[in-house]
Amino acid sequence: MKIAFWGAAREVTGSNTLVEAAGKKILLDCGLFQGSRLNDERNSEPFAYNPAAVDFVVVCHSHLDHTGRLPKLYRDGFRGRIYATAPTKELAYLVLLDGEKLMAEEARRNGGKILYGKEDIDGVMELFEALGYDETLEISPGIKLTFKNAGHILGSAMAQIEADGKVLIYTSDLGNNPSELLDPPATTAHADYLICESTYGGRVHEDISRRQEKLNSIIESTIAQNGVLMIPTFAIERTQELLHDIEHFCNMGNCLVPNFYLDSPLAEKVTAVFEKYPEFLNGKVRTSHDKDIFGLERIIMTSTARESQQIDGAPSPKVIIAGSGMLNGGRILFHLQRYIGDPKNTLLIVGYQAAGTLGRRLLDGEKEVKIFGKTYKVEARVLAIGSYSAHADNPQILAWVAKISGIQKVFLVHGESSQATILARDLADKLNLTVLMPQIGEEYLLN
Ligand SMILES: [Zn+2]
Repeated sequence: MKIAFWGAAREVTGSNTLVEAAGKKILLDCGLFQGSRLNDERNSEPFAYNPAAVDFVVVCHSHLDHTGRLPKLYRDGFRGRIYATAPTKELAYLVLLDGEKLMAEEARRNGGKILYGKEDIDGVMELFEALGYDETLEISPGIKLTFKNAGHILGSAMAQIEADGKVLIYTSDLGNNPSELLDPPATTAHADYLICESTYGGRVHEDISRRQEKLNSIIESTIAQNGVLMIPTFAIERTQELLHDIEHFCNMGNCLVPNFYLDSPLAEKVTAVFEKYPEFLNGKVRTSHDKDIFGLERIIMTSTARESQQIDGAPSPKVIIAGSGMLNGGRILFHLQRYIGDPKNTLLIVGYQAAGTLGRRLLDGEKEVKIFGKTYKVEARVLAIGSYSAHADNPQILAWVAKISGIQKVFLVHGESSQATILARDLADKLNLTVLMPQIGEEYLLN
């Protein structure tokens, strides 16, 4: 078995690992690099391998940084089979369509060409085949694939590949535990090799038990100040967790005052996929007496651009949930332009902000930012709630890896070097493991 790292190597985006085993080429995820611009030059570079020679792609979850180059792979000749869970397939379609739209908008604004068109998305979707959790499929003679729940977002999976007498586990993204909506990541007893994410290496998440309390107090202070609360979110999982928490807040009482807007057509469609696959949610949610777990009867959905613009004219206080999650595009930017200059307003960051994104700059406390080329003073409060993370933190990753026996090597991916280094040290010191942090293009023979 041979593996080569072509993305998310010492950084968080662009997940893409090529496995060669039993005479076949298998790609693990095929994500977009996401820095300050979606049309990152690295996305348009030709793949380092021949896409037409790839036999299978295993897509572990639908986030753009794990799926965003699939249509390019198709455009460049890939016609093999793609394995994913059923929700991942549906969500990937929505995410890819949205990504294509954002890229086209960005290309119109800044020039540059887009990576692929709608026809490539439609083409690549034809190649998907659904596989459930804990089902093992022999995808080719001598190669077995099993998905296990990764607890990261709806339908997210870890991939277990058994071939050439070895067991390789790829975590893709490992979920934060406990999650309000999902079961915790499945444990696994044995692996020879592990490719593990490291987004929150060296970090400890805020205690999730205080999350609701914090959100409540931020909404309450927005009401008291007659302000606007802007929450940039990732359309998948984060939005539904927020909606679920807002539903809790409202169930406790004062929800007559602020209007809650879900200003994201993507998040609206994604929420419908959550409702379609309740079997992928945790037991607590499935057996909940509250049938409207996302509070959809209360939330105002603004699907069209015109409805979105009307939010502006609505009286404060108001709470606006909009994409994109790292503020590198999407409707949130229009709200930010309008409301960032007023100290009554709040920007609440609830997700990971990659280096170079506007979200990261605001979180780092920059006092002046550029939005669509215009400079704005940051007068609004910028707050963050860390426990909405959909990723395991350092202690969670350590505890999860500790349950696996027989590991010969751990490869850390999907983490900035500073984060991955701390996790690498802990895995070596506390669990006595051999840990590598591959650079892009590095290849390893696993025998
Ligand atoms: Zn992810």
